[in-house]
Amino acid sequence: MTVSSAGAVPGSVRGIQYHGPVSTRYDTSGVPPQGGYVAKQCPVRAQWDIIRPCEPLPASPVLARRFARGQQFEEEVAARLLALHPAAHVIPGRARAGREDATLGAMKAGRPLILGGRLPVDLGGRRVGEPDLLVAGTGGPGYRPVDIKHHRCLDAGPGGWPSRCSPLDGPVPEAAELVPGFSARAHREDLLQLAHYQRMLEACGMAAPGKRLGGIIGVDGVVTWYDLDARRWATPSATGRPKRRSTMEVYDFEFAFRLDVLAVAAQHRADPSVPLLVVPVRIGECAECPWWSWCGPRLRAGSGDPSLLPRLGWRPGGPAADHVGARRPAR
Ligand code: SF4
Repeated sequence: MTVSSAGAVPGSVRGIQYHGPVSTRYDTSGVPPQGGYVAKQCPVRAQWDIIRPCEPLPASPVLARRFARGQQFEEEVAARLLALHPAAHVIPGRARAGREDATLGAMKAGRPLILGGRLPVDLGGRRVGEPDLLVAGTGGPGYRPVDIKHHRCLDAGPGGWPSRCSPLDGPVPEAAELVPGFSARAHREDLLQLAHYQRMLEACGMAAPGKRLGGIIGVDGVVTWYDLDARRWATPSATGRPKRRSTMEVYDFEFAFRLDVLAVAAQHRADPSVPLLVVPVRIGECAECPWWSWCGPRLRAGSGDPSLLPRLGWRPGGPAADHVGARRPAR
């Protein structure tokens, strides 16, 4: 295999538990189904997306360029996959419902590779999702999700996750081998996205049996496979000591929490006396967030928020619940 070099928070939410695939604390049945990005982003951003407290900032030229480069890379990799797998099933069209039906049909027909699919809406879980690639499992009917990302997934040397990779001409985990001298870089956002697709596949009965695995095709030119049940994330716990959790567990918590944030935001929009669930806290994501137009002036106004003190920002990549009154529901 060749690796290329190239508002205020109600006290009642404190101490709540978020467990299981979707375990929300509020009625989220009215929340529109969400993409996986919501689990990756600041929960306050999801809240403002509903409330729209002001005009959001436009994407910066840097962000727009990065997005365009990512799109172009996705198209290049998809073209390469098609050249290697002329029989791959490409989901045509733009209409969402039509693409969902076509994707489900292709999965039921057992197509080995499905490009550009859109999974059936998961109404129970309030999810929508469009994995770049679905690969059929070899141990029975079902699929595993793969996304294309314009960044490296492999680092020279030890220290990261196992570097289990398969070549693009055999993009299945069964063809994966450890790449000697490399370890896999775990991008939290990528893995949460894969967990989102995994839950959607499970919801429609199309998840591959066996290990929950998801793949990322990065600029390394291979599929790097990640075990979504591996307990490798150090997360806060009710005991105060970090607890190792899997990508699936972290995703389930973060996604369910965002659904609650969205449900409460919708209540607040209808009745402003309903307190919002989360408050702005300055994090790395603020620099490129469209709602900095709202949060920035308030955080800069000298609220005394410790997140504004140098070196005292809330831990980047920490749980979204850092934004809740007691900063974090216990788990
Ligand atoms: S500006 Fe920062 S705190 Fe406000 S929504 Fe965006 S990321 Fe969250």
